[in-house]
Amino acid sequence: MSRISVVIPCFNEEEALPVYYRAMCKVMGEMSGEEFELIFVDDGSSDRTLSILKKMNETDGRCRYLSFSRNFGKEAAIYAGLKNAGGDYVATMDVDMQDPPGLLPEMYRILKEEDYDSVATRRSTRAGEPKIRSFLSESFYKFINRISKTEIVNGARDYRLMKRKMVEAVLGMSEYNRFSKGIFEWVGFRTKWLEFQNVGRCAGQTKWSVRKLFTYSLEGITGFSVAPLSLASVVGVVFCVL
Ligand code: UDP
Ligand code: MG
Repeated sequence: MSRISVVIPCFNEEEALPVYYRAMCKVMGEMSGEEFELIFVDDGSSDRTLSILKKMNETDGRCRYLSFSRNFGKEAAIYAGLKNAGGDYVATMDVDMQDPPGLLPEMYRILKEEDYDSVATRRSTRAGEPKIRSFLSESFYKFINRISKTEIVNGARDYRLMKRKMVEAVLGMSEYNRFSKGIFEWVGFRTKWLEFQNVGRCAGQTKWSVRKLFTYSLEGITGFSVAPLSLASVVGVVFCVL
């Protein structure tokens, strides 16, 4: 029997939580030979998310939760969850059903039977997403892949299942401004990619405003490319000469 931890960041997700929990109960039923722990990370929610998590913890020992003192962002929530995950296999997954829980058994089978350290997922299309958001995302991926040596996969989700050794490597990077899509790639290891069709949110609304996404993309750029530093140096030298 293996232990599987699932890290789930939650920010104002009172509507999505029950839907997600039901879906995960089905998945855990299918994988009844394994031991599960669901680590929900309440990222400073102002709705009933925390009280729902407390109830889930009382009624189902597999459900654990961490609660932040304020909203620190999804990346901080993933990091805290990974730090507290004790499983031999650790997954990260959104709570809004955009990362289909039903893929988990197949991801687990791949890690058990094939020679991979992690199974990652990407959306094959962005159908259903606002056009402007798709355009900005596509532009970001084109730009960052031009200036960064680390490949940031277009359409990659933060939904993946990793073996413990890869989790340790990810935790070894204790940087303050985290950009998981880059970190997962940077640490190396053999990763198999699974594709799936874009799925809409089951309830509630996206927690990422365009402004939040923009700041996040800057974190990716400054974290995984020295281009901004080189540019500053060149501009500095030019002005010095002038
Ligand atoms: N999330 C979080 N903190 C935030 C924003 C989002 O923990 O500040 C969580 C959210 O509850 C969800 C996941 O991160 O489980 C992805 O967020 P969302 O679905 O809003 O993003 P999108 O899918 O629109 O990119
Ligand atoms: Mg979502």
